[in-house]
Amino acid sequence: MLENLKIVIHQGKQYIPNPTTVEVPGIFRGRPVISTEKVDENKLVNLCPTNAISANPVSIDLGKCTFCGECAICFPEKISFTKDYKTSSNERGRLIIKEGENKPVEVNPDTVRKEIHRVLGRSLKLRQISAGGDNSCEWELGAANNVQFDMSRYGIDFVASPRHADGIVITGPITKNMAEAVQICYDATPDPKIIVLVGTDAISGGIFADSPAINRSFLEKHTVDLYIPGNPAHPLTIINGLLDLTRKLK
Ligand code: SF4
Repeated sequence: MLENLKIVIHQGKQYIPNPTTVEVPGIFRGRPVISTEKVDENKLVNLCPTNAISANPVSIDLGKCTFCGECAICFPEKISFTKDYKTSSNERGRLIIKEGENKPVEVNPDTVRKEIHRVLGRSLKLRQISAGGDNSCEWELGAANNVQFDMSRYGIDFVASPRHADGIVITGPITKNMAEAVQICYDATPDPKIIVLVGTDAISGGIFADSPAINRSFLEKHTVDLYIPGNPAHPLTIINGLLDLTRKLK
């Protein structure tokens, strides 16, 4: 008994006490900030592997960005990455970071469907679909429920069957082979159901955006409730995004 207590005291707290306020250590790249410094914008735009950067004025689309950091390395006076991991939104347009702005990316409570707060505000069960994913976002979704991040404390869990789910979480660019499976899984989920896209590949296709092997027609037919950027998305981005969608009130 004494030995066990010693181990518990030695380990300290295993979990993050508050995932909504904790600071991320290390070299994490979160929300970028773009200065108004004049640079060769053509060169800047052309170095991005996923066409996430636009010119005049310069902007970065977090839904396309792979967070490779190349733009900040080549143009440190123009672009820097903060450690702000709260980069999710229910509106695609809010993922675009503009030159000269340094404000958080947020869920807009005015455009969240009413039934989401009412029905899913205290308990949210999700079915994850890896639609051609590379297992990176899938891994981070799993990490969101590990002992450190402990997303379950908020009543948010993953379930095996869409019949038991309140929504689907899609990772990967949605390959042709997975397009029908995504639709079947969505159809099997009871209303009101939400659609969450996790990671750059799911939001925009990422580096596979122009591939003939993907079929993203599902996203043209349905409304996406939450975009969670990242390549892969960080567990803190995932947890805060889901909490903001289901609990942030007007
Ligand atoms: S960090 Fe994002 S915006 Fe910058 S070059 Fe890489 S993909 Fe493009």
